[in-house]
Amino acid sequence: MTQPYVIDQMISAKSIAARVEALADEIETTFAGTEKLLVVGLLRGSFVFIADLVRELDLPVEVDFIEASSYGDGMETSREVRILKDLRGTVEGRDVLIVEDIVDTGHTLARVSEFVAARKPARLKTIALLDKPARREVDFKADMIGFEIPDAFVVGYGIDYAQRNRNLPYIGCVRFTS
Ligand code: 5GP
Repeated sequence: MTQPYVIDQMISAKSIAARVEALADEIETTFAGTEKLLVVGLLRGSFVFIADLVRELDLPVEVDFIEASSYGDGMETSREVRILKDLRGTVEGRDVLIVEDIVDTGHTLARVSEFVAARKPARLKTIALLDKPARREVDFKADMIGFEIPDAFVVGYGIDYAQRNRNLPYIGCVRFTS
């Protein structure tokens, strides 16, 4: 059970669509001439973003997914990230783009990037729809960012609260009402 809450719109569907288009242009420039770009989504929060992003990409693409789980052991600084689901295909010598929903403390994307980089891709870049720099615990910066946001709990556009609200077409901020 969750406490009662309302969702205040933070980023409209229209703004997201415009930003996704601009990000796709940036990706096309970054990976110009690629034989085939391996677009790797982090499950599950990136599924809407990745779906919109690949449809804006005028490049040959392959799509694969990784699932990572982060858990604390009570100490904020020793968070560990486990890989729960690995990629199906090979990475060595490939052009790879890792797609994440939110960079918060930075542990997840830092760990997943390391994990993929160890397999020796030709070029490896990371992209996140949202970035909360105020929350960072590790020195990590995604190569491309959709929107920088303040320290708030957000939902929508693939991102959930207790497995709800992923289907909202916009990004909203959760506000508890009791
Ligand atoms: P990090 O390892 O950067 O702290 O964690 C990133 C992950 O934390 C994201 O992929 C996401 O699953 C989760 N997360 C961080 N901020 C939020 C938020 O505002 N809302 C939701 N639903 N998940 C978040």
